[in-house]
Amino acid sequence: MRGSCLCGGIKYRINGRLFDAMNCHCSMCRKAQGSAFRSRAAVKTEHFEWVAGEDLMTFYESSPGNHRGFCRVCGSPILSKFDAYPDYLGLPLGPLDDDPQVRPKRHVHVASKAPWFTITDDLPQLPEGPR
Ligand SMILES: [Zn+2]
Ligand SMILES: [Zn+2]
Repeated sequence: MRGSCLCGGIKYRINGRLFDAMNCHCSMCRKAQGSAFRSRAAVKTEHFEWVAGEDLMTFYESSPGNHRGFCRVCGSPILSKFDAYPDYLGLPLGPLDDDPQVRPKRHVHVASKAPWFTITDDLPQLPEGPR
C-alpha cells in the first residue's frame, strides 16, 4: 500500500495491515486537516517504510508526546508519532494512494465536532477519545 503527499516529495509504503480506523472530530485534528474530521488508522512502526522525502518531514507536538508529522513543502499530514507508544504510528488515510482495506468504524471526540458538519452514518459516536 502506497501513500504520498500533495507535492509528491514524500512517498511511503505500508508493508502490513492498518487497524483501528476511526474519524476523529477533536479540534486539533480539525485544524491539522483543515476539515470536519481526521480519518486515521494505526500501523506498526516496523511496517512503515520511507520511499522518498523523509527529510521533508516536520513534526509539531500538538499535545505532550504526540508528534504530528507533515510535509514542510505542501503541508500534507503524513503520520503521528507517540512517545508512549513507539511501536505504533498514527496514519491519516487521506494521503494513501491505494485502498487501505480498512474503513472507519467509529467517530471519536464527537463532543468537539464542528457545528457545520452533520454525521449521517450509523457508526458509533464517542463523545470523547477512544481511551
Ligand atoms: Zn509535500
Ligand atoms: Zn483528534
